[in-house]
Amino acid sequence: MRILVQKFGGTSVATPERRAQVASKVSEAVHSGYSPVVVVSAIGRSGDPYATDTFLNLAKGIYSDLPKRELDLLMSCGEVISGTVLVSTLNSIGFEAVLFTGAHAGIITNDDFGDARIVRVEPGAILEQLEKGKVVVVTGFQGITEDGQITTLGRGGSDTTASALGVALEAETIDIYTDVDGIMTADPRIVEDARIIDTVTYNEICQLAYQGAKVIHPRAVEIAMQRNIPLRIKSTFSDAPGTLVTNMLPDRGVGTDITNDRIITGIAHTPNVTQLKVLTENTPDLHLTDKRIFKALALADISVDFISVQTEAVEFTVSDEVASKAIKILQNMGFEPGVIPSCAKVSIVGAGIAGVPGVMADMVEALSDAGVTILQSADSHTTIWVLVHKEDMATAVQALHQKFRLGVC
Ligand code: ADP
Ligand code: MG
Repeated sequence: MRILVQKFGGTSVATPERRAQVASKVSEAVHSGYSPVVVVSAIGRSGDPYATDTFLNLAKGIYSDLPKRELDLLMSCGEVISGTVLVSTLNSIGFEAVLFTGAHAGIITNDDFGDARIVRVEPGAILEQLEKGKVVVVTGFQGITEDGQITTLGRGGSDTTASALGVALEAETIDIYTDVDGIMTADPRIVEDARIIDTVTYNEICQLAYQGAKVIHPRAVEIAMQRNIPLRIKSTFSDAPGTLVTNMLPDRGVGTDITNDRIITGIAHTPNVTQLKVLTENTPDLHLTDKRIFKALALADISVDFISVQTEAVEFTVSDEVASKAIKILQNMGFEPGVIPSCAKVSIVGAGIAGVPGVMADMVEALSDAGVTILQSADSHTTIWVLVHKEDMATAVQALHQKFRLGVC
């Protein structure tokens, strides 16, 4: 049996016309000899009646004290709705389709409600249906704990469902269908001449995804990478070949992840972060102070990023959502942190960045020519990050895209 996982995002299942396009992608797969497993997200985006955000707002607006377990039960309904209508569409064109929830599909998670991790997949029930010639539609974004509680997997969770199923079912490929023609050198909503990346390694795309390129969830890339299952990111609405994510780069053979002609793969951005700066120079034991600050934030479940520890100050970012909570914690410790709200992290990513002279110089030049102030910067062997004011984010992404000539030639 040749198994193909096909995942369709929220915009792909939003209207009857779009669901018909989804059905034709499933039909193409069947006619090419595949047994498809179709993973769906909830219908539409924020504001649409059955979107995940709509359920979240319902709970937040009226029942602000809803326990996490019940919130996950509510959140898991969106995919059940979209899965049901897709089964109906597929049946209407002559396929025998069956809807599986994450629980039916054997997706076992831990009990971290709202952001659960898949720990195991038991694919027996899906295989049974595939053997009977059925198309199995699986609700993305959710699973079940060992003791039978429904969980959800966090933002982008349907991508993770698709990858986990792809690995468990030993699929030939995992196709992630969305509303753009593939992974691009930057978000096409910000950069007009962003270019489709034809082939890219798991590692490069993982970095881009971690830095905010939300076209695919990084966890999904990591899972597919474990078993070397190729991922393809494609459009539901065109026949473009999309982006192939693999370890094989063209003309190179296997495993040439490290050396790469391309210095910069792409540019990603993450808006809505707050920079906090705590002056520590007058505190008696500097190391102890630094430790206390990060311990206190960790205890409050606040994740910090962009950390810079210097002798006189500690700087870091938190998401805007938790900024006031973080400030209160610091004030309770006797600090009056400097706060720059509404910042954005802009990152250039490329396996070839390490050791190439002049990349940082070009980055600084591009940003200063565009009038963008760099609030903070950091780098690793594949990524250089800068923190900028949110109102400069689009300008920064565009300037860097142009400087590194990533656009359509
Ligand atoms: P889906 O609902 O199909 O999962 P998402 O909204 O999660 O879709 O992801 C698709 C969106 O990701 C695109 O519409 C695009 O605006 C955005 N995006 C951000 N960065 C990139 C990138 N580098 N390449 C392609 N799309 C990107
Ligand atoms: Mg998505």
